[in-house]
This record gives sequence, structure tokens and C-alpha cells, in this order.
Amino acid sequence: MSAPLADGFGRVHRALRLSVTDRCNLRCRYCMPAEGLPWCAPGELLTDDEAVRLVGLFARLGAGRVRVTGGEPLVRPGVAGLVGRISAVPGVCEVSMTTNGVLLAPLADDLARAGLARLNVSLDSLDPDRFARVTRRRDLDRVLAGIDAALAHPGLRPLKVNAVLLRGIGEADVLPLAEMARRRPVVMRFVEAMPLDADRAWRPADVVRGAEVRAMIDARWPLIPLGRERPSDTATRWRFADRPGGALEFVSSVSEPFCATCDRLRITPDGRLRTCLFSDEETDLAGPMRAGAADAELERIVRAAVLGKPAGHAIGAGRRVERPMSRIGG
Ligand code: SAM
Ligand code: SF4
Repeated sequence: MSAPLADGFGRVHRALRLSVTDRCNLRCRYCMPAEGLPWCAPGELLTDDEAVRLVGLFARLGAGRVRVTGGEPLVRPGVAGLVGRISAVPGVCEVSMTTNGVLLAPLADDLARAGLARLNVSLDSLDPDRFARVTRRRDLDRVLAGIDAALAHPGLRPLKVNAVLLRGIGEADVLPLAEMARRRPVVMRFVEAMPLDADRAWRPADVVRGAEVRAMIDARWPLIPLGRERPSDTATRWRFADRPGGALEFVSSVSEPFCATCDRLRITPDGRLRTCLFSDEETDLAGPMRAGAADAELERIVRAAVLGKPAGHAIGAGRRVERPMSRIGG
């Protein structure tokens, strides 16, 4: 067994977020511009073989909890096959996915069969007009159908629903979204908007903070804190006082940073390693791999990059990130 992937602050890395495309079929305001972005050329994207090889390398080094993301992962042709191959990699202990859900209904069966264990579906509003205002597409019904299809698979539980609320739009969505966690077997997560939008419109004052959302829900349905599921988790968990099921989570990256316990690494769709979502430092893995680097050489590059991982971020103070979220992998 290899030595764990530790950084200079003693944090050991167990989780890998693999972005399989930078493309997307929505245009969420906090992520992409209306006209989209200059997409990676097909030859720049990691192939399935390259992605599986990198997953194998990280899994051998102890980072075997893999989340497939994007861009929108379900727009990558053959993504269920790739999930199946990743699930079969020795050392991979869990494969999960974050998706906007638009293409989920027809793919949920294939993904569950391929070994996907957990699913996060992003959904910012249950109101068709507000959904369209945030995502710039009228696809709410398709996302809801995707959630229904995923809930039909007991293997895909817990199903988590991620909402990013924008100041001036999202406040009206807090109670309807929280109520969904009371009536359906989903965990509702409220994620603070981070300065990862390609439009560079993010301002600290626009963040609807987790504490504010929690207070709104608590005033209607009192909440009980449950703490974090794992110390390295990004989310704090809560439940409704009047019922045992129905959990809520808050990912308050801006107002309550959790860098000290971070165990996550990211691979961009073009095969670069990012040790921190908020640092602009990237380490090319696709280039050396295509130039014929052996696994031992890739391991040396990865270990050096992880050792240089920064202690934390300063986004609450207004620092921005150059590469937008859709090109990193959320
Ligand atoms: N397209 C998929 C989706 O939306 O679920 C996966 C990729 S997306 C980048 C992953 C997650 O990041 C989504 O839940 C999305 O809401 C979130 N996200 C994107 N931009 C964000 C931002 N600026 N601040 C906070 N969360 C963001
Ligand atoms: Fe697409 Fe996800 Fe970004 Fe929305 S958050 S534009 S769905 S990548």
C-alpha cells in the first residue's frame, strides 16, 4: 500500500472529483455566461482510457472516493459506460455524480446498473419561471422527472438536491425547497454562491448565507443540528425537529470555510490536477501521460502538487478564481 497523499499541512486526500466535460445544457447565472464558453476541443478532453488510468493512480494512492462531475457530466457520450469502468477500478470505494438532472430520466437505470452509488441533483427552484431565470432554460420538468427516476432506484440513496440561491431571486425558494425534504426521501442542501462564475458578477453581498437560510427554515419548522457526517465533509447536517426523516445540509464555503479538513482533489476535463477549488494553480497530467510517462512518474508529479496545496482560501474577502466552476468540476 502506497503512503497516503498528504499535503504540507497534514491533510490526507481521499476524495477525487473527476470532471468529464466542460460543456453544459444549462447556463446557470452563477456559473456560465448566456452564450456559453469556448469549449475544450475534443482532442483536449481526457479519453475514457486516460480518465480510468488517472482514477486508478489516485485510488492506489488512497483517493478512491470518486465523484463524476462537469460541466454537465450527462452530456458526455457514453458516460454510463465510463462510470461502470471507474466503479471497477481497484481501490475505488464509491462512485458518485453531480448532475443538473436534465438528461437523468433516460439514464438513471444505466447509471445505477453501472455502479453509481450516490447522486446529487442540482435544482435551485421549484417555480418554473424562477428556474428559467437562474438557468436560462425552461427545463424544470425534465429535472423533476430525473429526480423521480433516480428515486425509483433504492441503490441511489441518499439522493441529495443542491440549491445555490442568488440574492434577490432565491429567497422565495427556501421554504418550497425545504418542504421537498419533508415530503420526499431527499436531502436538501443549500450551497452558498462562490466567486466561480465566468461572468465575474459575484459580490460578497450577493451571497445568501447558510445561516440566513437556516433561520428562515427554522422559523417555520424548527431544526436540530446533526453535525458533519464525516469530519472532511463540506456540509453541516440538520433535521426537522418534528420528524426523524428529512435532512437538510448547508455548504457554507464563503461564510464558514472548511479548508482545514479538506480531503478533496480535482481533475479538470483537460486532465489538470487542481488541489484547491479556489487556487489558480494547476498541474498538467494529460501532457506527461500523452508523452509516455509511466505511473511512477505521474505519482511523483501528483505528490509534489499535493504537497504544495495551499492552506486555505480568501474568497470571503473578495478574492476571485480565474477558471470558472464548469471548467474545474464542482
Ligand atoms: N452541471 C452539474 C450540476 O450543475 O450539478 C455538475 C457541475 S456543477 C459545476 C456542480 C455544482 O456546482 C452544482 O451543484 C452547481 O450548482 C454548483 N456551482 C456552480 N457554480 C457555482 C458557484 N459559483 N457557487 C457555488 N456553487 C456553484
Ligand atoms: Fe451547467 Fe452545472 Fe454550471 Fe449550471 S452549474 S451551468 S448546470 S455546469
